[in-house]
Amino acid sequence: LQTHSLSLSLQAKMSRPVQARRLEGIDKNIWVEFVKLAATYSKVNLGQGFPDFPAPDFLTEAFTRALSGGNHMLHQYTRGFGHPPLVKVLAQFFEKLLGRDLDPMTNVMVTVGAYQALFCCFQAFVDEGDEVIIIEPFFDCYEPMVKMAGGTPVFVPLRPNPPKDGKLMSSADWQLDPAELASKFSERTKAIVLNSPNNPLGKVFSRGELGLIAELCVKHDVLCISDEVYEWLVYDGKQHIRMASLQGMWDRTVIIGSAGKTFSVTGWKVGWAVGPDRLLQHLRTVHQNSVYHCATIAQEAVAQGFQREVMLYGKPESYFVQLPKELQQKRDWLVQSLDGVGMKPIVPEGTYFLVADISQFKSDVPDVPNSDEPYDYRFAKWMVKNKGLAAIPLSAFYSEAHKNNYTNFIRFCFAKEEATLKAANDILQKWKLEKTSS
Ligand code: PMP
Repeated sequence: LQTHSLSLSLQAKMSRPVQARRLEGIDKNIWVEFVKLAATYSKVNLGQGFPDFPAPDFLTEAFTRALSGGNHMLHQYTRGFGHPPLVKVLAQFFEKLLGRDLDPMTNVMVTVGAYQALFCCFQAFVDEGDEVIIIEPFFDCYEPMVKMAGGTPVFVPLRPNPPKDGKLMSSADWQLDPAELASKFSERTKAIVLNSPNNPLGKVFSRGELGLIAELCVKHDVLCISDEVYEWLVYDGKQHIRMASLQGMWDRTVIIGSAGKTFSVTGWKVGWAVGPDRLLQHLRTVHQNSVYHCATIAQEAVAQGFQREVMLYGKPESYFVQLPKELQQKRDWLVQSLDGVGMKPIVPEGTYFLVADISQFKSDVPDVPNSDEPYDYRFAKWMVKNKGLAAIPLSAFYSEAHKNNYTNFIRFCFAKEEATLKAANDILQKWKLEKTSS
């Protein structure tokens, strides 16, 4: 009897595929692999995008007050679409930024990080057969999220132009070809994903570039999912321009933001979507039928952080002024370190990422002909295992078809303490010395 029931239970387990078709081909994930590698081998981790410096005191104090300040209701559910104080202050803040009136209850929704805002957008807007344009290189989750919704991603690359004589390349040298971009729009196009400032390049799209995209969106009646999580991390006096502020775009744009990036608290996972009610009402449907609710205490603390920032808007004490100032200095240190050893950096105009050219280091990490793995993956793995320095291969931010065109670059995160960046510099200098003496 025992053998019989065992074989029945085995059969029961094996009788049908368990995986839903929508997961086919999207089971591999760069972060699972590289976060583990960094945890195992890295002495200096410039891989995944998070600060290793403390969050601002005013924010952690707000969290502590929310936790133990006597309002026990902050330990319970709050409004599902966003804790009222947070949606109110976000509406107030974005009214200033966009120059239009916003209703906190219908024009703002709080999500579990920007990730969930993105997920809600794709689930809310994309049907089977719809195409979604994604600009390469892109934050990697856009592609599987489009596919999970039944849509087809259509990729258009930023193409690098040679830098000006004797200058380091800038993220601004990576540009869309207007004709190529236009050729991707058709009656099947439902949406375009825009990520400015862009992860991984650090490109901050200019008004002209945004205008070009906006014109095509209006012409083809296409939505824009505008991932602006790095909106405050812009350098050298550059300005972040909001797609929703361009003519004809408010009605068709969802702005996505992240307290994780904005206040250096990536672990809190508080994000938001801002847009017209006619779009956000559908995000609410996805939200209420999936996660429904985000941690109340984290929302309360982020609300207080924004209340502070509303008061200090544009002033030198504002965190949104101080953070980019500090990060620009860190960017410059890392640029210097990399340039000094010949790992040519592409100087980012924004974000806390920087892409560098590994060509001059290739002799240390021989390629394996006909390998399935792009060369930059091999290089990044070799580097963390042999040098203790973690970074992310750039081709992780490209579609399968285009990966092999961009295998000479790796991405570093420079939102790190001075000591961490110095330690990275030491590793690079030592490596360079070993190279020249061998
Ligand atoms: N969009 C981009 C471009 C990102 O780089 C990230 C985080 N790396 C996210 C969205 C996700 O943000 P969050 O942690 O708030 O979910």
